[in-house]
Amino acid sequence: MQNKEKLNRLQEDNMTLGERLEIILPLLDERYGTDLHTYLEFNAQKPWQLLFSTILSAQCTDARVNLVTKDLFVKYPDLEAFARADLEEMEKDIHSIGFYHNKAKNLIGAARKLLSDYGGVLPSSVEDLTSLPGVGRKTANVVRGNVFGLPSIVVDTHVKRVSKCLGLTDQTDPVKVEYDLMEVLPEDHWILINLQGIALGREICKAPRPKCDGCFLHKGCRKWRLDHANG
Ligand code: SF4
Repeated sequence: MQNKEKLNRLQEDNMTLGERLEIILPLLDERYGTDLHTYLEFNAQKPWQLLFSTILSAQCTDARVNLVTKDLFVKYPDLEAFARADLEEMEKDIHSIGFYHNKAKNLIGAARKLLSDYGGVLPSSVEDLTSLPGVGRKTANVVRGNVFGLPSIVVDTHVKRVSKCLGLTDQTDPVKVEYDLMEVLPEDHWILINLQGIALGREICKAPRPKCDGCFLHKGCRKWRLDHANG
């Protein structure tokens, strides 16, 4: 929280960011819990399987991913099997998942790079993870948080939207939102903010019309305070 300019920008409702967080974080913990085990529900036994499930999950439901990986991880039980897989056959194996052509290419490419550059062991740094085909910052942070337990912030559409409503960021670019949140949130809420932000975004703070009336966070929410100050 060293960035004074940023703090000033985020204070136009006359509440400091610290005051806002003191209200918001305990309420989020109370309502949505702090159990990280509920964070991901992929059928992944091995770290690389969690990475591959996450790659497959772009624009697709976790349930669909689990349905496909149930057979996929039996047919291709290790990285070597993925690395030598036939692209067309892999495309057929995952065809019920959107963007299957790119995803099949990325799975095979990621398996090959993991074997050639990392000795078959999943790396933990954002730089190394994002060097793998099909792995952006969001996927890298999912893996860092869930495989390695490293503090990391996953910014999806819900986290991006609710963070802006609450007044934790003014950015819309996910990477900039991630950096803002890393600056303002205590580390013990880096992984949690994704879990809690998704729950809040699905239940109450919905797009395009958040259900602000009666929202349990309204006292600390910048949007609520600005809407009511103006109205
Ligand atoms: S008060 Fe409205 S904008 Fe603020 S968190 Fe609740 S639902 Fe979202």
